[in-house]
Amino acid sequence: MESISSRIEKIAPSLTLAVTNQTKAMKAKGEEVYGLAGGEPEMDTPDFIKQAAIKALQEGRTKYTPAAGIPELREAIAAKLLADNNLDYSPKDICVASGAKHACMNAIQAIVDEGDEVIIPSPYWVSYPEMVRLAGGVPVFVETTEKNDWKMTAEQFEAAMTPATKMVILNTPGNPTGSIYTREELLAIGEVALSEDIIILSDEIYEKLVYGGAEHVSIASLSQELKDITITVNGFSKAYSMTGWRLGYTAAPPAIAEAISTIMGHTTSNATTFAQYGGIAALEGAQTFIDDMVGEYDVRRQFMLARLRAIPNISVVEPKGAFYFFVNMTKLGIKSQNLCDKLLSRYKVAAIPGIAFGNDEAIRLSYCTTLDVLNEGITRFEQFCREH
Ligand code: PMP
Repeated sequence: MESISSRIEKIAPSLTLAVTNQTKAMKAKGEEVYGLAGGEPEMDTPDFIKQAAIKALQEGRTKYTPAAGIPELREAIAAKLLADNNLDYSPKDICVASGAKHACMNAIQAIVDEGDEVIIPSPYWVSYPEMVRLAGGVPVFVETTEKNDWKMTAEQFEAAMTPATKMVILNTPGNPTGSIYTREELLAIGEVALSEDIIILSDEIYEKLVYGGAEHVSIASLSQELKDITITVNGFSKAYSMTGWRLGYTAAPPAIAEAISTIMGHTTSNATTFAQYGGIAALEGAQTFIDDMVGEYDVRRQFMLARLRAIPNISVVEPKGAFYFFVNMTKLGIKSQNLCDKLLSRYKVAAIPGIAFGNDEAIRLSYCTTLDVLNEGITRFEQFCREH
């Protein structure tokens, strides 16, 4: 349509949200669907977090707050970053946003100018390239391989750099692959970034979802120099099952934090006021919910790994984090969208086509659903693989 801006015409709708909505619509019509497409924990938000938001509402916390969030929440986030991630930020350098997605967008808007290149390891989270394009930047993809656990090496990063490179986006643990960058890998990548003053956007939304003794490392914690070029993104959606609350944040060097606060001041203003009080409770309350959730996910992860490895003609890397499997379907010779359409319409299994993440020969299966659904979903998926 002519009236739509050229900026928006270049952007594709979110495929992950599209599949989720299609699945919900089929279920609403009474169809049985085995949902392996989800990107959110299926458990409810812990009650003590809900109670804190209810109390805030009852106490009349219904007005605007500073654009970057209430001081108490920014202090609680600063304390969390210090305790969990060995990151020492002043609360004023923390900007609370309406979700980690919004936090990423703010960071990109604050840094990327027209024509700037942003290096994105592929497969990538669906929204990064479109956020870069919305800011007028150019996404530059670095193709990672299954052999290297879908991770970008420092050498690949260096080879992709040009004088126009402004930013690199890291996501560890990663969506859609579940890969986790080690301390050594981050140090090597950080060294390359430092050599040309490339800003690092480090999306750590899955940090709590790590398995089998794997360690999550925040790249900004590795040195003061790295902290000076890094914007750390995190949020409440995955760790506390708070996807609908829309609460996330950036922690950044002071000038960048100020820019992000200014952006929010003219766009969204503050994240929902009473949700921010829920955020404080989440961070300051007992963290046993997370341990229980991670234990539960690990059971599903191992169950799924064993089942997937028994299916011929596909391959998987053992994911060490998040709640996804990125399944290589190359041998079936069907492009990912077509594959997922068939899987959904004929086998009633919802999955996300790899093309959403930059790889048309793979699909993403998630295990944020019950073991029963997983079991039936994988049985049907296996049948699909054997029949194609
Ligand atoms: N980053 C990644 C890698 C994600 O997978 C997601 C959620 N799918 C987000 C950010 C956004 O999370 P939020 O709900 O906090 O906006």
